[in-house]
Amino acid sequence: MQIKVTCPICGIEKDLNIPDVVFAQKKFGTIKIQVPQNAVCSEHQFIVFVDSKGIIRGYEKIDLQMAIPTEETELEKKGILTLRKLIQMYGLYGLFSLIHAKIFNYPVYIMINNESEDITDRLNKIGNSILPNQYKGAAGVNFILEQDYDKVKLKEKNALVLDSHKNILNTPWDEKLKFEEDTIQKAVEIIDEEEQLLLMQQGIAKLINEAEYTKNLLENIREIYEDDLMERIAKEMMIPKITHYRLSLIKNFIKQRYSPNLASKIKNKVEEFLDLL
Ligand SMILES: [Zn+2]
Repeated sequence: MQIKVTCPICGIEKDLNIPDVVFAQKKFGTIKIQVPQNAVCSEHQFIVFVDSKGIIRGYEKIDLQMAIPTEETELEKKGILTLRKLIQMYGLYGLFSLIHAKIFNYPVYIMINNESEDITDRLNKIGNSILPNQYKGAAGVNFILEQDYDKVKLKEKNALVLDSHKNILNTPWDEKLKFEEDTIQKAVEIIDEEEQLLLMQQGIAKLINEAEYTKNLLENIREIYEDDLMERIAKEMMIPKITHYRLSLIKNFIKQRYSPNLASKIKNKVEEFLDLL
């Protein structure tokens, strides 16, 4: 099926071929389709949200614009997964999603066409390499040999699901993946592929460190407003004041990794006001 897609950055329009399987399914509703560079326009890549009737429900920009080198690297020749390879296999947004799932502990299901695409061990290995020791393991990646979306069986509802065409069928979150995008952006500026992962691990460890600090703080109080918490984290950890977005990452990490009750101690003045109306 063809649908007319417009680049959300420069406005160039082009008909794009979408696999019929996307529209034949009832299970996932709206699907995020990754549009790589040169598919619609030569400069930009982005995500299109398409429902099962073929109607475009929205777009999401990807700020990071990069062409992936096509040549296999030395590490890859030895069978080692690299960032370049992961971007090639799952697309940039697919990779942001995989990293998000890894940090925040969501199960992952990836549909594949044949057994040889099952790279569970190698994918879990690289996923674990970007996390601090005590957070390795936990939710992993499951490969499912299935072409029909409607036949995909998930053990958990809150799972990230990708198909074999780099489309994102389900994300158990609504937020944009800005942190993951920034993390990849910094990493790909480095040429050494092992250094790339190390840099990612450091950036993620810093976030987790703030989350651990916040967890300890929350354990000893009844509740706290977001703005007060943002100030306390900065003051007591001696770091620049964190943003609301950063706090939302910390809050989600606490909810997903430690306890939803603990996370709910963080209060938002606006939300509270709206609840009173
Ligand atoms: Zn464009």
